[in-house]
Amino acid sequence: MKKTSAICPFCGCGCNFYLVSEDDRVTGVEPSPNNPVNKGMLCTKGWNSYEFIHSPDRLTTPLVRKNGKLTVSTWDEALGIVSARLKEIMAQHGPSALAFLSSAKVSNEENYIFQKMARAVFKTNNVDHCARL
Ligand code: SF4
Repeated sequence: MKKTSAICPFCGCGCNFYLVSEDDRVTGVEPSPNNPVNKGMLCTKGWNSYEFIHSPDRLTTPLVRKNGKLTVSTWDEALGIVSARLKEIMAQHGPSALAFLSSAKVSNEENYIFQKMARAVFKTNNVDHCARL
């Protein structure tokens, strides 16, 4: 059994825990007892935060809707479609027609880059983050 120090990805509190793994599979979490943020405690989301890691329902490739049906795609194709649609919407309706929603499951640096892209490239302040929900 191996324990790896990590931070809960589900909200902005940033509770610390150990990911418990056996045979290269994450099997649970244990709250860090001495961390000043969560002091050995976790909320329900934190205790279950590892379950998505090996979930068979987890998306492992982008999906693109074709003829009304979601189909497996490549990142190049999916990002190309997103990029083209964002430019199209911005040209037709202006920057305020766009909104960018980010995730606590990426790093602060990635979130910073994301909001910078929204503000500097797409000229919109419509930026939010799942940690506020
Ligand atoms: S979701 Fe719960 S355990 Fe995770 S950081 Fe937020 S308060 Fe802490």
